[in-house]
Amino acid sequence: MPEGDTIFRAARTLNRALGGQVVTKFDTQLPKLARVDYDTPITGRTVENVEAAGKWMRMYFSGDLILVTHMLMSGSWHIYRPGERWQRPRIQMRVAIYTEPFVAVAFQVPIAEFHTASTLARHASVQRLGPDVLADDFDPAAVIAQLRSRPDLEVGVALLTQSLVAGLGNVFKSEVCFASRVNPFRTVGTLSVEELAALLRHARKFMQANVTDSAGEGIVTYTGMRRTTGRSDPSERLWVYKRRGEPCRVCGTAILSRKQGLDARTTFWCPECQRL
Ligand SMILES: [Zn+2]
Repeated sequence: MPEGDTIFRAARTLNRALGGQVVTKFDTQLPKLARVDYDTPITGRTVENVEAAGKWMRMYFSGDLILVTHMLMSGSWHIYRPGERWQRPRIQMRVAIYTEPFVAVAFQVPIAEFHTASTLARHASVQRLGPDVLADDFDPAAVIAQLRSRPDLEVGVALLTQSLVAGLGNVFKSEVCFASRVNPFRTVGTLSVEELAALLRHARKFMQANVTDSAGEGIVTYTGMRRTTGRSDPSERLWVYKRRGEPCRVCGTAILSRKQGLDARTTFWCPECQRL
C-alpha cells in the first residue's frame, strides 16, 4: 500500500504540473465519474489545487468539484507530456486529465469519486482521518491525547489507524517502532508520554525525509526507495522491515516478524532492542 509520503509526493507533483491549468479533455473508464462529467463537464474547468489528506488525494477543480482518489494497493498517478507514450497499458487507465502542458493519468485507482465541498465534508472516510503526520500544523500533543484514548490498542495497530494519525503505512510502522525502541505489540496504555512522543517524532522525521528528495519532472509518482537508516547503501536503507531472520543493525539479534491486528499486517521488530 502506498504510504502517506507517496501520496503527498504524488499530490505535490500533480499540483506542480496541473495547478492553474485549464482542462482540455477528460477521460474515464469509471461510469460514475463519466456521469458527473456528462452532467457537469470537467473540460474547461481550471485545476485549482492538488493536495494529500492522509492516503487520499484531492484534486480541486474550479466550480466546486473535487476529485478524490485512494490508491490502496495497486493505484498510481503518472504525469506525461501530451503525446508521450504511457508506461502502463491503456486498459488500466481509470482517469485521464489533459491540460496543455501535461496529461495526468490515474492507473488502477480502486476508489475515485467526485465531490462538492459539502459532500466531501460529509464523506465519512475522509472525515474520520486523524491529523496528517506530514501537515505543517501537526500537533503531537493532540495526537498523543488521541492515542491515549485507545489504551488497549497495540502500538503497531494504533500507528496504522488513520483516524488517530493519518499517513503511516506498514513499512514505516515497523521502522518507527524500532527507531523509538518500542515493541510494536505493547499496548498504547503501557507507553509513557515520552515514548509516544518519540514514535510521532520518528514518524514525522521518516516521512519528511522521504518527501524532500524531489520527484523531478516526469512520470512515476511512487517509489520503493523508502529510507530510514540514513545509510547510502541501498541494501541498508531500512532497520527491520522485511529483514526477518537477518541480524539487527544495532545489536545483531535476529529480526522477528509476525502478523498483527485484524488486518494481519506483518510487523517486524528486534526482540532485544524492543523488549516487551
Ligand atoms: Zn536489536
